[in-house]
Amino acid sequence: MKEKISKLIEQAKIAVEQSNTLALLNNVKVKFLGKSGELTQLLRGMKDVPQEERPMVGKYVNEARDIITELTENKTRELSQAEINEKMKSESVDVTLDGKRKERGSLHPCTLITEEIVDIFTSLGFTLGQGPEIELDKFCFQMLNIPPDHPARDMQDTFYISDDVLLRTHTSSVQARTMINTKPPIRLVCAGKVYRPDDDATHSPMFQQVEGLVVDEKVTLCDLKGLLETFAKRLFDSSTKVRFRPSFFPFTEPSVEVDVTCSVCHGKGCRICKGTGWIEILGAGVVNPKVLENCGIDSKKYKGLAFGMGVERVAMIKYGIPDMRILFENDVRFLKDFK
Ligand SMILES: [Zn+2]
Repeated sequence: MKEKISKLIEQAKIAVEQSNTLALLNNVKVKFLGKSGELTQLLRGMKDVPQEERPMVGKYVNEARDIITELTENKTRELSQAEINEKMKSESVDVTLDGKRKERGSLHPCTLITEEIVDIFTSLGFTLGQGPEIELDKFCFQMLNIPPDHPARDMQDTFYISDDVLLRTHTSSVQARTMINTKPPIRLVCAGKVYRPDDDATHSPMFQQVEGLVVDEKVTLCDLKGLLETFAKRLFDSSTKVRFRPSFFPFTEPSVEVDVTCSVCHGKGCRICKGTGWIEILGAGVVNPKVLENCGIDSKKYKGLAFGMGVERVAMIKYGIPDMRILFENDVRFLKDFK
């Protein structure tokens, strides 16, 4: 009997050693220590053992159970630790790797430029005004000294919705609406989308403008130049110069085109400024007295100064964008540069 038990311990030892997973080890446990396991079978055979040997055999069996239990418990610890180590190895975290980031959006370059321009003028005491994009002919043209038969209506072709309703061709309609409703002095800046049926590398059927209006006593073209020079220096850099060239707009008299020194070559001449050192940036002028009168402002007492610029054009100059259409393609690779 003692030999049998010794043999069983040996078998158990080998079986435990060969178990390389917790599941296999559990099978071994059942095989030797379970209710119908080998050890229990041995105990059942006790009835064949002579009476006087039984206590001794019982002692052997108990010792064997203790030994086998200890063997399996040790092996369980060993395998558990190995499993944890394996898991740690396969699931290790490389803390030097980039984490998963949520992509953040950014403002469109035209929005950035609009905000920058509006900020400059509001810091100079201007108020931001707004008006509808679907506008009446009255505010878009007639009040601004552009009657129905005026040649200027050919100059800026228009999307008409009906005879007297249209998509505004400029934000000047906001100036007309403001002058009717506000007593001078007026310092107004307005920004928004405008529409004209042009479509090429430098024109889009929808584009954005920022315009400004000053109505006050004793304001002159010199004030306008000073104002626009302050603006250009802030928008580009402090060395920027401004020059006026005579032009024609129906709502201003005199009218000027305004150039700034090229912000790329600082006036030396380069590809961007086509070698001239100057870049046209906006149109401006002294408000035609007829426009003031149309809007109920005494043109003998008050003078007006007005200016307007295309946001896309300013964005192209400031950011060196060669083709206006890039601004409307919404290519994320391009837009990401403006974060
Ligand atoms: Zn240049």
